[in-house]
Amino acid sequence: MVTTPLELFSVDHLFSDEEIAIRDTVRQYVDRSVRPHIADWYEAGEIPARELALELGALGVLGMHLDGYDCAGTTATAYGLACLELEAGDSGLRSLVSVQGSLAMFAIWKWGSEAQKQEWLPRMAAGEAIGCFGLTEPDHGSNPAGMRTRARRDGDDWILNGNKMWITNGSVSDVAVVWAQTDETGSGRGVRGFVVPTDTRGFAAPPIKHKMSLRASVTSELVLDNVRVPASAMLPEADGLRGPLSCLNEARYGIVWGSLGAARDCLDATIGYANVREIFDRPLTSFQITQTKIADMTLELGKGMLLAAHLGAMKDAGTLRHEQISLGKLNNVRESIAIARECRTVLGAAGITLDFPIMRHANNLESVLTYEGTSEVHQLIIGQAVTGQGAYR
Ligand code: FAD
Repeated sequence: MVTTPLELFSVDHLFSDEEIAIRDTVRQYVDRSVRPHIADWYEAGEIPARELALELGALGVLGMHLDGYDCAGTTATAYGLACLELEAGDSGLRSLVSVQGSLAMFAIWKWGSEAQKQEWLPRMAAGEAIGCFGLTEPDHGSNPAGMRTRARRDGDDWILNGNKMWITNGSVSDVAVVWAQTDETGSGRGVRGFVVPTDTRGFAAPPIKHKMSLRASVTSELVLDNVRVPASAMLPEADGLRGPLSCLNEARYGIVWGSLGAARDCLDATIGYANVREIFDRPLTSFQITQTKIADMTLELGKGMLLAAHLGAMKDAGTLRHEQISLGKLNNVRESIAIARECRTVLGAAGITLDFPIMRHANNLESVLTYEGTSEVHQLIIGQAVTGQGAYR
């Protein structure tokens, strides 16, 4: 009996019937509405973000693991499975959903006022409003504590000045969650989050062009030039870096699963190709070198899936620690990009085109390796957890 790499691991029994049903619904959506177009979007470097957001809202995946405010309130495991299926389509699609749900919506859901939640979350869950999350700056990526964006009080208002860089969804957003340094001297030394409608005077979000990765995703700079917002725009419950870092943990968790979707898609395409490609008068899959590659990739994909399912079960039980998310993000993205590159070798020249998903996934995973904490940052987190020594500086 021939089976797919993931079926060989018999992981389905780890998930509930409802989780499997959600996974299958997202998979069908991706097959129907994304696969036929993704190569063209990727080549053009453009996506119909508004239409996609509305479709994804109707599908129920935007902020799906949050409770209330018209969010679906699913398990974290179901959210992970959805991320995997979305990223099997393209990392850009999963990024749109991650930034909307795990970063922008989660920041408002976790740290926002009741009025902020009522104003934004139902519209964001429906995909009627798109959100972005501005933490990274041109000179401060891995070390957000050094951020230069400033928020200063002016009467009842806040005035924001600064630049954010590499911000997913930025140019198509209706609302930006912007993190800025204030003069407050609390435990977190004054970092605060602000909910900024993107039509506020002084706010601009020019797109970043010429990307070779995540081309089917909007990436932007945020320019804040004396942006005046009322006191009520500040996220009242988030003081210090624990605010944005809590959001990053949510998004990193989704990537633990999502990256495996890209790897699965590469491996499925590779087996399909190698079964029909004849080399020296035999199918490419009948050669031992090819089988060794496919077996090793199957093993890493399945191990990554078991790790994701384990972390998902812990998240649902409320016991998952942030260092454990680092284990999953580091391993699964690293192995997924290795799988994508190995798959490319099996396809030979055909692997470099957009006729197959492999090079697209491999290029996308370069971004996934870097955002939400680079591999090196996750190594430092894990290293500190098991040695007790911080080695960041
Ligand atoms: P740097 O921090 O300059 O790192 C450069 C290198 O130094 C890396 O290899 C890094 O691992 C290494 N390094 C860093 N610290 C150490 C250390 N202590 N020891 C040894 N090595 C170290 N940000 C947002 O806020 N919102 C978004 O929506 C968003 N979307 C993104 C979308 C894309 C496509 C990309 C590519 C990035 C996005 N980012 C976003 C930014 C992303 O989070 C940052 O790129 C990431 O945090 C790394 O920062 P950096 O690029 O400035 O690299």
